[in-house]
Amino acid sequence: MPLTLKLYLINYIMVVIIYIGGLRMYLECFEEIKELTSKMVAIPSIVREPNGETNVAKKVYDYYKNIDYFKKYPERTKIVKTINDEVDRHCAYAYVKGTKGNSNKTIILIGHIDTVGVDDFGELKEYAFDTEKLPEKFLEIGVEEEVKKDIESGRYMFGRGALDMKSGVAGHMYLIKYFSQHPDELDGNIIAYAECDEEDNSHGIITGLKEFIKLQKKENFEYIACINADYSTGYTPEDKNRYVYYGSIGKLLPSFYATGKETHVGQAFGGLDPNLLLSELTRIFSLNPDLCDEAQGEITIPPISLKQSDFKEKYTVQTALAAYSYYNFFTHSMSPKDVIEISKEKAVEAYDNVVEYLNKSYKKYCEMSNVEYKTLPWKTRVYTWEELYSKLKNEYGDDFTQQINTFANNLNKEKPALDLRVFSVKVIEEAWKWMKDKSPAIITYFSSTFSARIEMTGKTKKEKDLLDAVESSVKYVQKYADNPIKTRMFYPYISDSSFMALSDDIETIDSLGNNMPAWNTKYFYNVDDVLAINVPVVNIGTFGKDGHKTTERVDMKYTFENVPNMTYNTILKLLG
Ligand SMILES: [Zn+2]
Repeated sequence: MPLTLKLYLINYIMVVIIYIGGLRMYLECFEEIKELTSKMVAIPSIVREPNGETNVAKKVYDYYKNIDYFKKYPERTKIVKTINDEVDRHCAYAYVKGTKGNSNKTIILIGHIDTVGVDDFGELKEYAFDTEKLPEKFLEIGVEEEVKKDIESGRYMFGRGALDMKSGVAGHMYLIKYFSQHPDELDGNIIAYAECDEEDNSHGIITGLKEFIKLQKKENFEYIACINADYSTGYTPEDKNRYVYYGSIGKLLPSFYATGKETHVGQAFGGLDPNLLLSELTRIFSLNPDLCDEAQGEITIPPISLKQSDFKEKYTVQTALAAYSYYNFFTHSMSPKDVIEISKEKAVEAYDNVVEYLNKSYKKYCEMSNVEYKTLPWKTRVYTWEELYSKLKNEYGDDFTQQINTFANNLNKEKPALDLRVFSVKVIEEAWKWMKDKSPAIITYFSSTFSARIEMTGKTKKEKDLLDAVESSVKYVQKYADNPIKTRMFYPYISDSSFMALSDDIETIDSLGNNMPAWNTKYFYNVDDVLAINVPVVNIGTFGKDGHKTTERVDMKYTFENVPNMTYNTILKLLG
């Protein structure tokens, strides 16, 4: 058989195999993504710090600008300044329009370019961004055995942001470049968005939603899925698995403001200590397994106390006037409405317990000191912020609502950097001034950025398509991977994925807004923008150890090679 015919036949057989099996390819991307990651880590981009986040956004943008495709279509890559942000910083994105067919289907890849700080590096601070020298320095100063073993294995890259998550962004940059050279593989489009401020207030992705909406109009993009590449890690030191996550955990910050009745230490039973109310609340709220949230066979870790404090600045022999506390609360199935209801329930329970305890205690003290016992005057009194606000609105009408609104707006103008939790307390204090009955009470509310839970049930076509595409890509890439790759239904950390969809009803989001003292004055959550995109999400992310610690390190083979290949094949399956 002549050679040309032989080659022709081989080619023909290959095409048939590809056709039957669905297009499958394994990209040799390790070296390029490794180098790109190292260069991106070398540019410090600690969240909020001047210029850092913008410098990395510029780096990403420059990378795209120098690709032939974007020289031909310069409007398909852009650097974007965040909106409504007190910090000057930027994001960058690029998109490739497939030429294989006429589909408008579009996949969004997201990844954050900011990192946490480096103060914890101490004397090694100057090497925090040096992926070459940092491991050597660790060996010089001595590190724990596991870290030492990982350095010696040569499998890991160290450096702030290497794992969380510049390596993930680098993978997406590589894929954009690849598709810019092979747009004929895509019947549809892909866009990769590299956002700032993920580690703090998510201004980057919130700005991104606006850009995606603009492209929806300009390019007719029909968004079908979002792939994030945020970091993942093992559940125990022995865990050998790698994880791909559908959906996302949700997070709320149920908060409590307790106003008591102050008393002098000499008349200890004459007052109601707000610290006692909140201590009891912490006891029944923090790490209570009844408050774990289960969905699709996966369970959240229970709430945990993050703050409990009164407002006394100096030592006095008077008990505190008021105190506040807040708790991290993860969700898989619960809506903000569910969480505020549980918070109120628990506040009532804590209050009841304290009243009972105080009476018992006082009764015993009376017996011991031969004094006549009379039941203490305390009555359980708990409001949600929504209830308190409506009560005062009913009593005072616009006088109250306008005053509160003006107060909150002015406070935000005067102190734009004020912590959201402290801001919320100040608004509540202002409202409390309007209460006629100032006897002790607990007010429960939300005081942090809302991270929406995203549950993928597979009930919609988009969800089912994404689930199928990822499952088959994982199966395919597994052959090339050194460790088992497992899929789970909820990404277990807070991430920008939460802005890409909404699994809760709109009404339950009203409950979030109505219970947030900072709503629409300091804190904004644009439900319409989220719903305009609303795509199923998957996190095909970097893997490593010690995220947010000095010994943060990324598993190079999995992250620079297996991860982009899973993403690549998922894209081909959806748009091939
Ligand atoms: Zn991250």
